[in-house]
Amino acid sequence: MDTVGLVWFRRDLRLADNPALAAAVAGGARVVPVYVHAPEEEAPWRPGAASDAWLHRSLQALDAALRERGSRLVVRRGPTLDALRTLAAEAGATHIYWNRLYEPALVARDRGVKAALRAAGLVTQSANAALLNEPWAVTRDDGAPYRVFTPFWKACQRAGVDAPPAPEPGRLTPVPESLGGVAVDTLRLAPPIGWDRGFWDAWQPGEAGASATLAQFLDDAVAHYGEDRNRPDITGTSRLSPHLHFGEIGPRQLVAAIRRHTAEHTAAGLLTNAEAFVREIGWREFAHHLLWHFPHTPDAPLDERFARFPWLDDRGGALERWQRGRTGIPIVDAGMRELWHTGWMHNRVRMIVASLLTKNLLVPWQEGARWFWDTLVDADLASNTLGWQWTAGCGADAAPYFRIFNPVLQGQRFDPAGGYVARWVPELAGLPARHVHAPWEAPASVLAAAGVRLDHDYPTPVVDLQATRARALARYASLKGA
Ligand SMILES: Cc1cc2nc3c(=O)[nH]c(=O)nc-3n(C[C@H](O)[C@H](O)[C@H](O)COP(=O)(O)OP(=O)(O)OC[C@H]3O[C@@H](n4cnc5c(N)ncnc54)[C@H](O)[C@@H]3O)c2cc1C
Repeated sequence: MDTVGLVWFRRDLRLADNPALAAAVAGGARVVPVYVHAPEEEAPWRPGAASDAWLHRSLQALDAALRERGSRLVVRRGPTLDALRTLAAEAGATHIYWNRLYEPALVARDRGVKAALRAAGLVTQSANAALLNEPWAVTRDDGAPYRVFTPFWKACQRAGVDAPPAPEPGRLTPVPESLGGVAVDTLRLAPPIGWDRGFWDAWQPGEAGASATLAQFLDDAVAHYGEDRNRPDITGTSRLSPHLHFGEIGPRQLVAAIRRHTAEHTAAGLLTNAEAFVREIGWREFAHHLLWHFPHTPDAPLDERFARFPWLDDRGGALERWQRGRTGIPIVDAGMRELWHTGWMHNRVRMIVASLLTKNLLVPWQEGARWFWDTLVDADLASNTLGWQWTAGCGADAAPYFRIFNPVLQGQRFDPAGGYVARWVPELAGLPARHVHAPWEAPASVLAAAGVRLDHDYPTPVVDLQATRARALARYASLKGA
């Protein structure tokens, strides 16, 4: 008699390069693909609203892809352990396969699930689908984790970043009719009032969308990635982050595709630019390495001195203005509105808005991280924690605290024609490029010609950038020697 194996999908929502699925197929099992909905088990970081909206569509896409191969996705509600035990009994499964996750709450949950399933006589097998190297596999010579990116990345490269993707399954065995589940719609992941409508002009969740996004990046952008990756006004990056977060594509597939592309094409500088891209995948690895070794860091600074940082108590509505894209600083407002409308923000702009919040406005980085968590479609505990702690100056390999971004200069440098601001802050679209990043400094005649009335159509800055820079530096000085 055939063995039956459950393949427990989590954030590995793809069929290609899915080692858990490949192992089940290779073991000759009749495969029952299952997704268990149990967001409360991720507390205190249960997925935010934008992530839920993405997941809704990604699960539908996975079910459709499975159906094309003769199978389907069984969706059950948690608690996870109960759901898996019940389904295994109903299906007569002897094996359960899954790919590992690395967030502290999920590591603890998975350990418990694994122990209980094994105690119940089931064979469990887990694999790595999400990373080039396991976070514990790359350490310093003395066994300690890395806190600086460059030596970490060199060690990763020595350990190898070219493992081949797992084989893609062909036709799958049908899932018996008797194994019922709930419809994805009933999980209430999609927002009831459709505020996510604008997202789907920009995104196609699911494995096919991920492959198409990668193909477009290789065709259009990788050859100039090193330079263009800093420009929010053009499509200079891959926009693969939500696909990577949900495991609709994996880093091994990216590296393999990059290697193929550079072998087949000869554009000047392609190799250097492609390596710059692979290095960014390295930052994602570093983020996971840090979260694994320092699991307290989503809430607490890695640099413990910052636990006593004198943040501002009375913020006078500054956080709300930042969230709504009404700070009066155009590149910041453009970023916050891009985030609200598309669920994503360009990396350069993430750094600029995070610097303004934590340094000029002296709002704790955790508040910004929480807002991103709820609004980003790529919200990822490892990368979000790294990004916020890096910008705030309290994380691993962090920007020094005194590196306070000047958002006007950043805007002028990375959005030189003002196209990014014009797109997301249309009330400033009539301003000439040289004034668009600091409308408060524009002559009255220029404002009038552009139809901009400050404090009417668009706010004046929420803070004085120079004065708040000096204030932040003084507060930082109070930590020194602590
Ligand atoms: C304050 C702040 C918060 C952030 N929060 C997140 C988050 O929640 N989720 C997230 O995926 N990224 C986060 N990032 C990192 C980065 O901004 C995004 O990964 C990137 O903008 C995604 O766009 P892309 O796919 O076009 O990137 P590309 O430039 O095409 O890079 C390819 C991939 O490399 C990885 N990557 C690139 N830069 C970084 C980085 N600095 N740190 C970690 N991984 C990186 C991503 O997986 C990305 O998809 C954050 C950065 C900052 C400064």
